Amino acid sequence: MSNLVEEKAVLQGAEFIVKESSKDGLYVPEMADEEQLMIRDMVRTFVKTEVWPIIDKIEKQEGNTVPDLVEKMGELGLLGAHMPEQYNGMDLDFITNTFIGEDIGPAGSVSVSFNAHTGIGMLPILYFGTDEQKEKYLPRLATGELKACYCLTEPSSGSDALSAKSTAVLSEDGKHYILNGQKMWITNAGFADIFTVFVQVDGDKFTGFILEKGMEGLSLGEEEKKLGIKGSSTRLVFMENVKVPVDNVLGEIGKGHHIAFNVLNTGRFKLGASCLGGCKQVTDASIKYANERTQFNTPISTFGAIQSKIAEQTIQTFVTESATYRCADLINDKIKSLKEEGVGYAESKLKAAEEYALECSLIKIQGSEALDYCVDEAVQIHGGMGYSEEGMVARAYRDSRINRIFEGTNEINRMVVMSTIFKRAMKGQLDIATPAMTVQQELMNGTIPQVTDKGVYNDVYQALSNHKKVLHMLLGTIGKEAMSGNLNLKTEQELLMTVSDIVLAIFNLESTILRVDKLSSIDTDVDQEVYDSILRCYAYEANHTIYKKAMDAIGIFVTDDLIPMYVKGIKSLTKFPIQNIRNLKRTIAATLIKEDAYVL
Ligand SMILES: Cc1cc2nc3c(=O)[nH]c(=O)nc-3n(C[C@H](O)[C@H](O)[C@H](O)COP(=O)(O)OP(=O)(O)OC[C@H]3O[C@@H](n4cnc5c(N)ncnc54)[C@H](O)[C@@H]3O)c2cc1C
Repeated sequence: MSNLVEEKAVLQGAEFIVKESSKDGLYVPEMADEEQLMIRDMVRTFVKTEVWPIIDKIEKQEGNTVPDLVEKMGELGLLGAHMPEQYNGMDLDFITNTFIGEDIGPAGSVSVSFNAHTGIGMLPILYFGTDEQKEKYLPRLATGELKACYCLTEPSSGSDALSAKSTAVLSEDGKHYILNGQKMWITNAGFADIFTVFVQVDGDKFTGFILEKGMEGLSLGEEEKKLGIKGSSTRLVFMENVKVPVDNVLGEIGKGHHIAFNVLNTGRFKLGASCLGGCKQVTDASIKYANERTQFNTPISTFGAIQSKIAEQTIQTFVTESATYRCADLINDKIKSLKEEGVGYAESKLKAAEEYALECSLIKIQGSEALDYCVDEAVQIHGGMGYSEEGMVARAYRDSRINRIFEGTNEINRMVVMSTIFKRAMKGQLDIATPAMTVQQELMNGTIPQVTDKGVYNDVYQALSNHKKVLHMLLGTIGKEAMSGNLNLKTEQELLMTVSDIVLAIFNLESTILRVDKLSSIDTDVDQEVYDSILRCYAYEANHTIYKKAMDAIGIFVTDDLIPMYVKGIKSLTKFPIQNIRNLKRTIAATLIKEDAYVL
């Protein structure tokens, strides 16, 4: 549980960009309490004993494997872990639910089905359902007796979800809506009992409906033949004059976008957490294989090239974990404080995820891209065996790729990051103008504030402070140019994508330094030197990313006469010293290779 004994200054969504965060009161996963450790153990045991022995059957969709497993998760209470007790839930906090998502993550197809059922499947009803709808569906969804899917995408509307063409019209007697259209790529559709569907009422009022299996006119396409997550059911859903009782309207007519977008915030976060579990699994497999495989009369784990890969997988995984649990902690605190203010159960969860929408998008991007990196290197470390379906890494490699596509593609999520910053700035919720003016003054006067009180981490904190100033400089100028009409942000996606990478690197670096600094006063089984090495490698990499991306950005929108001034500023703010990356990575790899496992 969060350590509330320490004084804690909780930042609002996106505020990390302009404010300092503190390690005081921060939750790090090494602080897991007994209940959390017990639940983690239960989930890991479930994956080990129930999923792995039948993984081939799952992948071939033989029998009822995935729906049966969903029911077993229901018996363990996992489907209702995030639901109130009133609906057969366990009412576990957000951090504990993050552990559950992470630990199911390695189970690929099963994890996708779990996330679709518990996330985009159940949450729309919890957040927006009437009391009757909640009573009717949630208790049975929490046990797994009913299974859910979420039908937003259509053949002609994916990222542009609101342009859906499916329709609903009220019947003459006013008792039903008649739904027509089709939905595409629907996870769990093959065995779902409950379909949350989005259609246009009267052609233009985007609205959610709850449909039930067996309703006349509701039918399914064949299973899609996919690149990965082959065990998860993915089908087209057809609606042909489906008569849906008016009581099954979800939320308000014309307000479907509230449901669709708000549910996605949590969905994105959960996806990132599942990817983190995948990163740990494939890194662990890489370490074990590298120790076992001998070439040139020595285990391949003795080769620097392989050690460097294991170290980089570890850095990506550790950074992703640091960012994920920092975000979980922020959301968890927000839920608690909203509940204390008297906000209801569902609304407090909904509002908390909405507050940290930007951070949820960052976790989705970071998790999915870190996992793609880790699975790719896992295949490489396994050599030919990595390319064989006999091992698990080939499946993990294929399974990973979808994560950059669903729950909003990573391009869309990068746009969400940037649009959230500018929207909050316009509403006066996020002051980017003052820090932008401050950095301008500081650069002119040569008075960049110096960090002096952070001990051995001083240089990393200094780098972080400077990196934020690079971002302030860019955001300030972009904002000004946009306001004066010189820059149309709608047509400047390349610029926005570039700057969003700086935002991501800053969130990652800050999350990692806060965790590593905190770990220096927590007992763990790992030498602090390993954490410090990870931090230094990542800080060095983040510094280069930020330097490169900032240069790319100014090349796009700064006029030639001003470029030298910006270049000088960026150079002076991205001066993290050269590190002996070889030695740092050897230190990281040595511990994991010795333990023959990903032990962080
Ligand atoms: C296995 C699987 C399971 C899925 N499960 C579900 C589910 O359960 N429910 C559901 O509703 N949907 C589901 N989806 C759909 C998924 O959410 C969409 O595939 C995704 O949102 C992308 O939409 P699209 O495929 O139409 O791609 P498009 O939107 O056509 O995008 C194609 C490319 O163009 C880019 N692009 C699009 N618009 C923009 C823009 N404005 N700016 C910049 N770049 C842009 C995208 O980033 C992408 O790279 C699933 C998909 C798959 C493959």
